[in-house]
Parts: sequence; structure tokens; C-alpha cells
Amino acid sequence: MAPNAVPAPENWEDDDAQEDEEVADLEAFQRQYEDDQSWTALQEDEYGRLRPLDFREEQRAKRQRLLSASASACIRRGMIRYVQIIVDLSRASAIGDMRPNRLAVMAGVLQGFIRKFFDENPLSHLGLIIMRNGIAERLTELAGSPEAHIAKLQGALDAGGDASLQNAMNLAIESLRSIPPYGHREVLILFAALSTCDPGNVMDAVKAAKEKSVHVSIVGMAAEVRICSVFTKETGGEYGIALNERHFEELVFSHARPPPSLDSEKHASLVRMGFAHRNPDGIEGTAYIGEECKLSTGGFTCPRCKARVVELPCSCHICGLTLVSSPHLARSYHHLFPVPVFAEVPQAELGALTGSVKANGKKDSSEGGEPVCYGCLSELSNTGEDLTQELGVVVRCPECKQLFCYDCDLYIHETLHNCPGCETVSAEKQDREGGEGAQPAAMDED
Ligand SMILES: [Zn+2]
Ligand SMILES: [Zn+2]
Ligand SMILES: [Zn+2]
Repeated sequence: MAPNAVPAPENWEDDDAQEDEEVADLEAFQRQYEDDQSWTALQEDEYGRLRPLDFREEQRAKRQRLLSASASACIRRGMIRYVQIIVDLSRASAIGDMRPNRLAVMAGVLQGFIRKFFDENPLSHLGLIIMRNGIAERLTELAGSPEAHIAKLQGALDAGGDASLQNAMNLAIESLRSIPPYGHREVLILFAALSTCDPGNVMDAVKAAKEKSVHVSIVGMAAEVRICSVFTKETGGEYGIALNERHFEELVFSHARPPPSLDSEKHASLVRMGFAHRNPDGIEGTAYIGEECKLSTGGFTCPRCKARVVELPCSCHICGLTLVSSPHLARSYHHLFPVPVFAEVPQAELGALTGSVKANGKKDSSEGGEPVCYGCLSELSNTGEDLTQELGVVVRCPECKQLFCYDCDLYIHETLHNCPGCETVSAEKQDREGGEGAQPAAMDED
């Protein structure tokens, strides 16, 4: 044994101390820059130079994603959806690359999504399945009540073990098998893991999903996984990989809008629905209500079998009739006739408009001589020096030619589903034509 291979004891201690110091330094450095993601505020221009991010670009990209749906107004959509959401609670969901960890982000986004889903699709049903410890577990049955799903989800949030796509898909397909033929069958998987641990060949699940015309969409939190892209491609779903928390939310929420139907599913069918009567509150309305037969007041009565149900929409637990109220139908209507896509007004034109407005006095504006948003009356021109802060994308409705700011544009297309400019024009027209009691039409969403 060579004596010089072993260093002197005091050198050992020195090395250890130095190493500890280096580790401590590194940790301190990491802590300091932990939350600092300065690179996200930079973008590359056409010459490869780094520039501060033009937030208008970001707004444009988001508009593009959101509005591509309304551009496809003539597409036939699956309005009555049966969606199984599969949540990956494997150990990969405890990783902290999203803050505070993937599980918390997933739970938060999913709760918002469930509410939004029923807001956009009041006639649809949703169920939850979790993947944990290599098995799949049904958390809630396909049903219509958002709060029940959310309560169940909150009680099941701990991560561990592996994810099994095959087990989860088998369970989802099983529960989607019995739904009526007019229903649009979908599976949405929130996938945190990079692998799947299956009892057999996972491709069998792909085949089964395709046979039962179940559309599988996946939102990944880590990186692209081949089996996920196979699943989505074969079944006509969408596959997205989240870059960060906000992107994850965007990807998940994009599934709230009804998806287009496939060619093979384009047979028209009439769906029998019942408009349930509301029961009086108070002692005279007290009865045993719903499947659980709870003694309570209020609720609704099925027009066919006179059974009592707790809430709408649902299917009658006695005769199976779909029970809805007319606002539910009205709220589904806007997917078929969406607000037209607003065109972006170029900055140069906006500048000219500002000039002409200044010259001519008032136009498109209330008081100040600047063009203002028709929705919220905020100013649309960059009067201040701080160009980056105030000025966003400005858009114009192709029908009524009114200008809107970015926020109003999103609000109109995502929530309101009516253009205030067009509604005012049609209301004025009705007034002129002497229609007595002409109300401004459908501003009644929500
Ligand atoms: Zn009934
Ligand atoms: Zn506005
Ligand atoms: Zn309009």
C-alpha cells in the first residue's frame, strides 16, 4: 500500500471543513435565488438579443388560445358530457418544483375547474378517480354536484406510491360504459409522474378507450411521456405539458369548454328532459327528498314520477329522467352561437384614432377625448410615460365596431357571452321599431 495515498489527519479535517463551508455557501445561494425566475421576464428578438418581455405578446398568445374556440362557431360540439377526471396522487405529485408542491397546485386548480366545468356545462356529469400506490380508486361517481366532488377531493389529498394508467383507465372506461349514446365520453388525466406501473399491457387500455369512443386528454406536470401522447392521439384528445403553475391552470381550464364531436358521433338524437317544479319552502314543502331520503324542505319534483330531488340538474333517481331548469339550457346555448372573435387594433391605428379624436372632439368616448373601452370606460391610449404598464392589447368587435380593452375582451368571451356593443345596437333598433317593452336581450348570464 502506498503511504502517500493516505493524507495526513489534519488535512482530512481541513478538507471536511472546507467542504461543509462550500455546501453551506451553495445552500445560501440557492435560498437567495430560489424564487427569482428573472429569465421568465426576458424574450429573444429576431436577432437573438435578450429583451424585456413584451407583455402584449403574452396577452396576444392567451387570446389566441382562448378565442380559437369561438372562431370555430360552426363546429358541432358534445354538449352533454360525461367526464372522468383521473388525478395522479403518486409520489411524483409531492415534488416541489411547482409551489408549494404539485399536489397543492393540482388540488387548487382542480377545484376551480370543477366549478367552472359545471358553470359552462350545466347538463354534464363529472366523476373523480385517483391513482395512488399502483391502484386506482373511485372517489366520486359520475354526478352533477360540484360541491360534493370538491369535498371528497379535499379529504383524499395525500401522495404515495406509483401511478397506474392502465388501472385508472379501466376503472374510468367501466364507469363510462353505461352512459347513454348521446353523451360525450371523456377522460381528463392530471399526470404528475413520468412513468406508469401497470399489471398488464397498457396498450390494451388504449384499445379499449378507442373502442368505447372515450376521448382521453392529459395535462402533464413534469415532461412529455410517450404513452400519454399515444393515448391522446389514438382517442382524439389533447395532451399538454405545463411549464409553470399558471400554464397548468390554463391547460386544465381549456377543457371546460365542450369539445368538438368526432365524425363517427354525428348522429342527431333527441334527449328527453323534464323541467322540474320547485317545491315551496317551509312546513308544507317538507318531505323525504332524494336518493338518501333525507327529511327536508324545498327541493324539486320530477314531472313524470313525482319523486323529489335535492338539486338541479340531475337525473331522477326513480325514473331516470334528466331534470333541468331552463337557465341551464340557456347557459349551454352560447357554445353554439359564440360572440364573434374581436380583431386586434394595431397600435398605429390606435395612435391615429387618438389624434383624430383629439381633433374632432368626442368619438367613442364619454368625456376626455381619448378612445375608451366600451365595456369598462378605461382609457385605451398611452398618455402616460410608462408605456409598458398601462397599455395592453386593444380589440374591436367586427359587428358593432366598438373598442374593448384586453380584460373586457376576456370577460365578454369567457363569462358574459354577449357583446355589450351589439346588444345596445339591437336594443336601440327594437326601440326605434316601436316594439313596446323591448328589453336589452340576453345580458342575463349568471
Ligand atoms: Zn322521475
Ligand atoms: Zn374594458
Ligand atoms: Zn359587438
